[in-house]
Amino acid sequence: MKPRRSQAQELADIRKAMRGCASATGVFSAKKLIHLALGRHDRKLAVSWSGGRCSTAVLRMALDIEPEVKVIFGDTGVEYPETVQFVMRISQEWNVHLIIAKPDTTFWEVCKKYGFPYQSRVGKGKPACCRWLKEYPLRSAMRENGIEAGITGMRAVEARNRMWWTEQNGQFYFVKKYGLNCWRYNPIIFWSSIELARFESLRGLPINPIYKKYKLIRSGCWPCTGYKDWERVMARTHPKFLLKMKELMGQRVLDHYYRTQVEPPCHTERMA
Ligand code: SF4
Repeated sequence: MKPRRSQAQELADIRKAMRGCASATGVFSAKKLIHLALGRHDRKLAVSWSGGRCSTAVLRMALDIEPEVKVIFGDTGVEYPETVQFVMRISQEWNVHLIIAKPDTTFWEVCKKYGFPYQSRVGKGKPACCRWLKEYPLRSAMRENGIEAGITGMRAVEARNRMWWTEQNGQFYFVKKYGLNCWRYNPIIFWSSIELARFESLRGLPINPIYKKYKLIRSGCWPCTGYKDWERVMARTHPKFLLKMKELMGQRVLDHYYRTQVEPPCHTERMA
């Protein structure tokens, strides 16, 4: 049996293939791509900032090149409170031209209507909450502020579908989805976790406290059930709420124990 290749190996292959492919857009360094985006879109460009490590690194790079660049923070209403505080604090310290995109609905309303976010997206696309809490508010914010292009902190190693997408579309492309017609630039799409950490330490970048506080590897909505291991994460971040969540999802308490190896709070309380 062929040994399974690591994501880093796959990423290196994609980068190599894109370099040698005449029809592809080629491979740009992060700074070059930001320069290119600014040159093409100028004031109609914004950085998408989630408060996570990757987009904070990209934001710093973009501000170094153009301090007036617009920045959009999508506040889904179920961000970790620490993330919102971090974004507000850094915005002030870095003098960021911040635009906050907020949804007209709530995570709970969307889940009641369309169900909770699911893990496997094969044949289903993004969960409804991603559309209602992120994409639609982003679309409105872009329209209101005359923005036609976005810079993201997306990295291909974080998800296999991002690798495939990058191989097909390159580092920048036009997106036409959910009425959101815009250019998207991904300057650090090829960065490994080591490259990201190196940049953070070189520039002394601030890091959202949730990573350390909750031992997280991703930022995002705290009640998200749309990724592997969400139960283990919620057992650390919101242990009491996890049971309620399972109840809302119609899942069993025993299942909770097997998946998290954490005793349900009701059981512990009864024993005390
Ligand atoms: S991160 Fe999760 S909870 Fe937040 S919008 Fe996306 S799927 Fe929904």
